[in-house]
Amino acid sequence: MLESLFFETEFNPIIKAGSLDYVWIDLSKNNVFLDKVNTNSSEDFSECVNQYLNDNNAKVAIGGYNEPRNIYKRSNNFNSSELEERFIHLGIDLWTNAGVPIFAPLEGKIHSFKNNATEGNYGPTIILEHNLKGNIFYTLYGHLTTRSLEGLKVGRTICLGETFAVIGKSTENGDYPPHLHFQVIKDIKGMVGDFPGVTSLTNQKADLRNCLDPNLILKIRL
Ligand SMILES: [Zn+2]
Repeated sequence: MLESLFFETEFNPIIKAGSLDYVWIDLSKNNVFLDKVNTNSSEDFSECVNQYLNDNNAKVAIGGYNEPRNIYKRSNNFNSSELEERFIHLGIDLWTNAGVPIFAPLEGKIHSFKNNATEGNYGPTIILEHNLKGNIFYTLYGHLTTRSLEGLKVGRTICLGETFAVIGKSTENGDYPPHLHFQVIKDIKGMVGDFPGVTSLTNQKADLRNCLDPNLILKIRL
């Protein structure tokens, strides 16, 4: 089982921060504080995240796995009249400054990459493929800088701890406050440079089985 392998494996931290630099953030629809914030505006939303980081004396606000969110209502990526609304988040977000470098948690190779440039989408995205003791799985990194995709080659090896991407600004990251979307995927389902990071109520259980808790790799304990 991949989960138990993750438990016994030590991974490289994906950003340079000590455990004291982190704080959990609740962006679920149950957080009434968010009702007062216009999360459709990346400026207002950024100010709210920065205030939260300041108030908590933290550098990285982290959270969001299996979190039901209202912040996707602005984008028809997640809502269309024909399809069930997608609002349950399948990755973990690390909210911090643009320009922060990302390090590979374990060795892998570039599976695919793409600029998913529509509003509210991932923006520049990289997917790595890993083989952990014979088990293939994937890690997805979304909301990167456009430059992170320059010169990348599918199949290139990324070493354990190698810097391979940088967190992007709201002007290039799908119009969000700067953050990394980090997702762990068992079955990539033939997708290339993209994979849904948010799901519907109907697909919640199956998608959570396919997208494991990223904190099994991050191992952040607060
Ligand atoms: Zn996310």
